[in-house]
Amino acid sequence: MASVDGATRRGGGDGSSRRRRVLVFPLPFQGHINPMLQLAGALHGRRGGGGGELSVTVLHTRFNAIDPSRYPELAFAEVPDGIPPDVAANGNIVDIIVALNVAMDGGESSPSFRDVLASVVAADDEGRKPRASCLIIDGNLMAAQKAAAELGLPTLVLRTGSAACLRCYLAYPALLQKGYLPPKESQLYEPVEELPPLRVRDLYYTSNANQELVRKVLGWIAETARNSNGVVINTFDELEPAELERIQRELDGDGVAIVLAAGPLHKLSPMNAGGSLHLRPDRSCIEWLDTQATGSVLYVSFGSLASLDSNEFLEVAWGLESSGQPFLWVVRPDLVKGLDKPSLPDGFERAVEGRGKVIKWAPQQEVLAHHAVGGFWTHSGWNSMLESVSEGVPMICKPQFADQMLNTRYLEAVWAVGFELVGKLERGEIKKAIKRLMVEKEGAEIRERAKELKKKMDQCLESSGSSQIAINRLVNYIISL
Ligand code: UDP
Repeated sequence: MASVDGATRRGGGDGSSRRRRVLVFPLPFQGHINPMLQLAGALHGRRGGGGGELSVTVLHTRFNAIDPSRYPELAFAEVPDGIPPDVAANGNIVDIIVALNVAMDGGESSPSFRDVLASVVAADDEGRKPRASCLIIDGNLMAAQKAAAELGLPTLVLRTGSAACLRCYLAYPALLQKGYLPPKESQLYEPVEELPPLRVRDLYYTSNANQELVRKVLGWIAETARNSNGVVINTFDELEPAELERIQRELDGDGVAIVLAAGPLHKLSPMNAGGSLHLRPDRSCIEWLDTQATGSVLYVSFGSLASLDSNEFLEVAWGLESSGQPFLWVVRPDLVKGLDKPSLPDGFERAVEGRGKVIKWAPQQEVLAHHAVGGFWTHSGWNSMLESVSEGVPMICKPQFADQMLNTRYLEAVWAVGFELVGKLERGEIKKAIKRLMVEKEGAEIRERAKELKKKMDQCLESSGSSQIAINRLVNYIISL
């Protein structure tokens, strides 16, 4: 496959190429592992203009370990994570990020992260495996960047959130200084002048987290991006042009060599990296979707981490029922706080028979691409939103924490391809929101805009489109190192 900037897939070049090996290290959570594996898939086997060919080794932790047998094209190496069992069991992301960084940065683990990294970086004696030329890390893994620097290994950062989200992180100290955070009830709808179109309520914030730790982690993220050789963002030029330009300018000033909008990565990777760490996608839902009318089904999923309390769960169930609309609902075993296996309310299954399907985990990208799906009720995780935008599916958003409010704000105020379900989850409001998106005239207009946005994304993915150019630049940059 010949393409711009001379980068090609394996098989397209001459036999004299220099082989290059790239290491990638995702943060061990679903929403971070998926895009990193997609990036690995987009890089594996690529040749640069100068003829070098890339292979990829994935570093992974024992915590939320990836199953290498699902990705036979890639090599894998386990690294010590040093996450204490109680922190792992608690599952709080901020605590896990801190524990992981502390352990990698000279913690107690034996062998040390640095020693294991050194052995993974090294060439093998038989000359089959060249020395790694760079490490692509998740933006949360500052300590991995430090260890790489000690070994003389350049690092690039993959940002698995939006460009707007990275801008928010880079501006975080200033936002704190100006008193926007923690958000005050009286100021929630005031604009954040530095980051239009955000309002105070849209800023990155997790109410039940230790705020000091959050500040520390966000500071690390900004520092890691600034200290890197390059930043790859899972977005596309047409989606966030102004935010990308601002980041480019800001990181240029820090000496970051390249800033690339190389998404949506799931569309650029030949490898399917959408599966769950713990659950098998239930493919029976595709057969069920085949029996439903085009554009009629609302797909409902709150990603891999967001949860509901028992009352919210009931309201969602009865809201879906009373909407009268076909739906496919992902109910993960850990969806309801405090329960291992939530039970659907009495009479629910009978009431929605033939019209509603409940599964534990969906092949989400395939579901969103199915002709029967006409809307997506999402928690506004960035991967879910990108996947929906990629298929022209409009959204109802119920954000909970982290960057989900910020993503929702862009979706509603900038791209206008959906709206937020504001306030407490209540069955009557849920029914109204579903009708608004799936049945009413306003929903049809939103759907039209979602189709237009998909067309723009399709252009970015064409062989001379901006996202393909970004991947080719990345390949050539890695080969030049
Ligand atoms: N996902 C999936 N099946 C499901 C639910 C989610 O494959 O039933 C995938 C989804 O396609 C996305 C990822 O899990 O790639 C969730 O990432 P996102 O950023 O949307 O949310 P997070 O889980 O990080 O909150």
